[in-house]
Parts: sequence; structure tokens; C-alpha cells
Amino acid sequence: MSNQLLRALAFDGQVRVFVVNAKELVQEAQTRHDTWHTATAVLGRTLIATSLLAADLKGDDHIAVDIRGSGPVGAVMAEGDAHGNIRGCVANPHVALDLNADGNLDVRGAIGLPGTLTVKKFISVLEPYAGQVDLVSGELGEDFTYYLAVSEQIPSSVGLSVLINPDESVAAAGGFMIQVMPGATDETLNELEEHLGQLELFSTLLNEEHTLEELLGYLVGSENYKVLATEEIRFSCSCNKERLLAGLQTLGKDEIQTMIDEDDGAEVICHFCSEVYHFSRQDLESLLVDEGDSHGL
Ligand SMILES: [Zn+2]
Repeated sequence: MSNQLLRALAFDGQVRVFVVNAKELVQEAQTRHDTWHTATAVLGRTLIATSLLAADLKGDDHIAVDIRGSGPVGAVMAEGDAHGNIRGCVANPHVALDLNADGNLDVRGAIGLPGTLTVKKFISVLEPYAGQVDLVSGELGEDFTYYLAVSEQIPSSVGLSVLINPDESVAAAGGFMIQVMPGATDETLNELEEHLGQLELFSTLLNEEHTLEELLGYLVGSENYKVLATEEIRFSCSCNKERLLAGLQTLGKDEIQTMIDEDDGAEVICHFCSEVYHFSRQDLESLLVDEGDSHGL
């Protein structure tokens, strides 16, 4: 049941609920980027939030999340599309802070306030749209809740959890997003608040390996929901050799010639997934020819 996202309606359609278990996805991100535990929590929570926000997308739609704080982890970036492909990275993966006063991973300390959260949406036919808010908490769940309220005018509750084992592997990772639809009654809101108020720590529930539907029941009450769909998500990067080679072209002829002369090729690492691409002298020379340069002919 890991790497699955469930969409549901609750309270007769007055509330939309998304629940995700992203343990394998966050584990793959941890392995690829060699993140240390606080950075893993930062990146993991961001990837979980991105998968929740992307759950609404269709066709070629995609979103990009960008978090800029003033803490040691630096910039945090993630992207998601309509097909459950999620990727992301942090500028400095080697961040391992002491636990915070509550005994939890110090996500706020790693991100650092002040800072901003930006969500860019690329929706077909519409102009790309970017919404930005100041970070209000730095723990990210509240920040995404605030973003949805301010930037998209959707009253929501977002919960994001990542638990790390002593050996740095991911013990549990998941989250939820609850959105209140226009016209929801006070009675519904009160009942929802009651459920959320009684909720055990979501990370504890995740660690107990409940199914997504059981988690949904904890969030809104076991009688109150209708499951719409369960979809797969995964860590997946759209990079490939052609794309990165084309990217090298932007460096310009002189720089490419220097790589050929001094290094006999080039090595490029995709920052989103840490995949390493090797380019031979011939690969690089093809760029010079494509540019209409007659060098070597
Ligand atoms: Zn990549």
C-alpha cells in the first residue's frame, strides 16, 4: 500500500479528502540524494505535499513547488504531474540537526524562517500561474494549509509526516489534505474539527501500517466517506541524455570546446534525481556541429 494516493468525498460531498502513503517514494529520494535525517524530513514532507497538490491535475498538467528559507537545507524544489510522477531535491542534503523541543525532526530549523513557499501550476489552456506566500511555520503542513487558504481560497487542512529510522532509512511517510467545499454546513465543519481534534499523531497512525481507507476513516469518521479512486505515485524524473546534452548547448561553443580539450568529455548530474550522465568527446562535438560551427571539418 506504499506509494498510493486515495481520493475521497466526505460528508455528502461537502469535503474532499486526499490521503497518501509515500514511504517508498521518500525512501527513493533519500537514497538518490543521500539526504541526512533532517533534510530527508524536509524533502519528504515537500514531496508528499506535492503529490497531494498534483492529485487534481489532468493530462499534461504539472506543478512545481519551490521553498526558499534561510536555514541550512537551502532551496527545496519538487515537481509533480497528473500521472503520479513526483521528483524533488534540496540544495544541501547533508543536514542533520538535533531533535526539536518536542522531540521531533527539526524541519523548521532546517528550512529557516523567514522564507517563502511558491507553487507554480502549468495547466493546459491557462497561462502558467504562480502563487506565493511567506512561510508561517516552517513545518510545512501549516504552510501548505496557509498557501491553499490565501492563494487558492480553499479552506483546508494539510498534514505531512516523515519518520526516519536510526540508520537514516525512511520508517514511514505520508500525509493528507482535507478541503472544504463552498456551501459546507457549520454542522459538517464542527464534526470535521472534532475528528481532527481527536486524531492521534498522523505519523503514529502511518507507522502502524493502516490502509489508506483506515486512515481516511480516522480523519473524517468511518461512516462519512465515499472513496473515488486510488492511484499510484512514484519518484520519477523526466531527465534523459538528450535533454541534458541540449542543456549543455546553452553553455556556448567556447565552454564546450574547453570541456573537449581539457576533459575529453563531460559529466552532468541531474539535480532533481542525482542521475549521472556521461558525455563523450563525440557527444560534445555533435553540439558544435549542430550549432552550425565548422570546427574540425
Ligand atoms: Zn533527473
